[in-house]
Amino acid sequence: MQPRDLSAHTPYEAGRGIEETARELGVDPEDLVKLSSNENAWGPSPKAVVAIREAAAAVHAYPKASHADLQAALADRFDVADGQVWLANGGDGALDYLARALLAPGDEVLVPEPGFAYYAMSARFHHGRVNEYPLRKAEDFEQTAEGVLDAYDGERVVYVTSPHNPAGTEMPPDEVRALADRTNDDTLVVVDEAYGEFSETPSAVSLLGERDDVAVLRTFSKAYGLAGCRLGYAVVPDDWADAYARVNTPFAASEIACRAGLAALEDDDHVERTVEGARESREYMYEHLDCPTWESGGNFVLAEVGDGTRVFEAAKREGVIVRDTTSFGLPECVRITCGTPEMTERAVGTVNDLL
Ligand code: PMP
Repeated sequence: MQPRDLSAHTPYEAGRGIEETARELGVDPEDLVKLSSNENAWGPSPKAVVAIREAAAAVHAYPKASHADLQAALADRFDVADGQVWLANGGDGALDYLARALLAPGDEVLVPEPGFAYYAMSARFHHGRVNEYPLRKAEDFEQTAEGVLDAYDGERVVYVTSPHNPAGTEMPPDEVRALADRTNDDTLVVVDEAYGEFSETPSAVSLLGERDDVAVLRTFSKAYGLAGCRLGYAVVPDDWADAYARVNTPFAASEIACRAGLAALEDDDHVERTVEGARESREYMYEHLDCPTWESGGNFVLAEVGDGTRVFEAAKREGVIVRDTTSFGLPECVRITCGTPEMTERAVGTVNDLL
């Protein structure tokens, strides 16, 4: 007995794990610098860690109150109704809910190329078909409504990543509005703001008060440092609460995740420190990397190193893990996550030595 034919589905290629690499190199994980998955180099909020410890005593129960509390806290923060916050098992889970709620078999979606792989994966899981719009290196990966509309052909969902992974470019709300104005009434524009906290561009959530064809994706994995908890959410149009009740996987956002999220959300200082640290790290990389880089709104920098796989492999042997962007269709680049000054200096020094 075998699963159905899954040859159309491509496995997700995650950034290299620190334990995995330490074992391969026969070194202590402490000696490695991991800047490959855009995690929070400053760790989680200490308040979230306390909340996780406390939640451990309550894990025999299904997460109901904590889920509602977190929905309410996020709704308050974004000035939307509680039902507009679709909590999920990571931003990836929220993408699945959107695909589940929007796509009928054979419906098409439009994704950026290069771009985050899970849009296409999620659409295919939900029997959707995937078309691409280009972000061009020659145009510094600029994101405009016009550029997306050139490729748009009535797709049901259009994904925009702002800040973009891996290029770091952004699409401000006015441009998202211009895009949504010119797509069909039954096209949803999903603005993925997984890295939104690191950017100075306002959130596209501000558009939700005026229209029902935009949704915004956010996560606790990046600025909040809770990637291991798997907690993300979509902020959706006004009257979609019923759809959430119909498409969500029961209790997919765990008690531990919801309680950690609530505590992290209250710790503005930790987020501010993280964002400030990431900005300093970005600036250091622009200034000190001896190769072309692109200005980034996220907690990472794309660097053109010539042969990304060679630099990735050689840097790893030096104990520095960066992201080879070959799987993004950018074999000449690596993506380096922002880190503490020590981590950044070591990564930049290592990469420069390999150029
Ligand atoms: N969107 C983008 C652009 C990402 O880079 C990521 C994480 N790699 C996600 C969404 C999803 O993150 P998570 O599932 O950890 O919330």
